[in-house]
Amino acid sequence: MEKKQLTRSGFIRLAGGAGLLTLTGGFRALAQSPKNSRHLVDTPLKREEYLFSLLKRICTDIGVHRFGTPEYEQVAEIIKKEMERALPKVEQDYAPFSLWEATNGPSLYVGDRELEVMPYKGIAGTPEGGITGLLRKHESGGYYLLTDTLTGRQQAIISVNEYGRAISSSAYRNDREIGYVDPERPVEPRFNIGRQDQPVLEEAVANRTPVRVNIQTRFLPPKPGSSIIGTLPGQTREEILFLAHADSPYNSPGANDNTASVIIMLMLAHAFSGLPQKKTITFMATGGEEDGKIGAIHYAEKRKREGTLKNIRYAVNFDSLTYGPNLQLYSKEKGIKDMIGDIHRDLKIEGTPKYFDSDGFVMDAMPFRHPGAKALYVNSRGYDGITLPVYHRPEDLPVTVAANCAEIGFQVFGELIRRLQKI
Ligand SMILES: [Zn+2]
Repeated sequence: MEKKQLTRSGFIRLAGGAGLLTLTGGFRALAQSPKNSRHLVDTPLKREEYLFSLLKRICTDIGVHRFGTPEYEQVAEIIKKEMERALPKVEQDYAPFSLWEATNGPSLYVGDRELEVMPYKGIAGTPEGGITGLLRKHESGGYYLLTDTLTGRQQAIISVNEYGRAISSSAYRNDREIGYVDPERPVEPRFNIGRQDQPVLEEAVANRTPVRVNIQTRFLPPKPGSSIIGTLPGQTREEILFLAHADSPYNSPGANDNTASVIIMLMLAHAFSGLPQKKTITFMATGGEEDGKIGAIHYAEKRKREGTLKNIRYAVNFDSLTYGPNLQLYSKEKGIKDMIGDIHRDLKIEGTPKYFDSDGFVMDAMPFRHPGAKALYVNSRGYDGITLPVYHRPEDLPVTVAANCAEIGFQVFGELIRRLQKI
């Protein structure tokens, strides 16, 4: 304290007057004081309020916010503003995207009986009036093929959601690990039904009951959609990258998938706001995860061009952390998984993490793969550990988000940052 006062009075003499000191000091303070938004999330109650106020603004007031729509860009703007409160550097990265839509349908009839059905995004439409044919089960047992009665040609694919009712899905995921559906050559019509209706399909196969599917689709001309990247610079170039996709599925406001996880990431940005860090921390809200991971691919390519992709030491990808208290951890890195287990034990955190020995460079983390990086992909399951009742469904609303699950994510990954900074 004394030393500081001495320096200060010395400065007054050098500056030659109090008036000048005030002016210079004011500017110096402005230039030097980092952003600090820690007060926004410094108690569990404030975090809960923060969670539900953003969930309301994004999932209730805006609703469905799939990539490529004005609603998505409204959400991106909210996320950007929140990052700007916490972080000195925030950028928006735009990737071109051709929005796919169903202009009519989908519908699925087994005989006269209509089943609930959702389309895969990016598929071609059927002819008007639909396709009528016979069903057979694929050898894998995983889905059904609809074959035209006359030509014997396979015309459409119907899959079953093993977790519950019909869900929207994406035509890219099973075809190419990384990629984007080509509007010039969309894949054949694909549909999803709920597991409760599977016996109806089985009967249709056995009894050779005609099945009719109908959907007309179109792609809109390419238009840019954004991802938001906020950086808390560290003392070294080494970087910890957090990813959470900001776009919702086609048919859902996406409260658990993935708005709540984006909000957990924003809470981490606030919690570390203004604090000196060893490694740089980057928080990326990606756009287009539900549509071929377009935003993540676009930004990773930019980093590669700039020669900074190699700075990334850890890529941690949050997807739907709030379905239940038990985090599911996918990584080849035993060290990181052990660390998460230790954190649960040391901080007495609710929930039992479940470990999978699969690659963490999946989904949005995939394009960030390079030899120097370790990856962790995190999601969760419902309280019974099996079902996902609102996954990719219109019912994925803020009311289904459990505050304690968001708090688990905040605690675990806040501590993970502290521990990774010590390595
Ligand atoms: Zn998701």
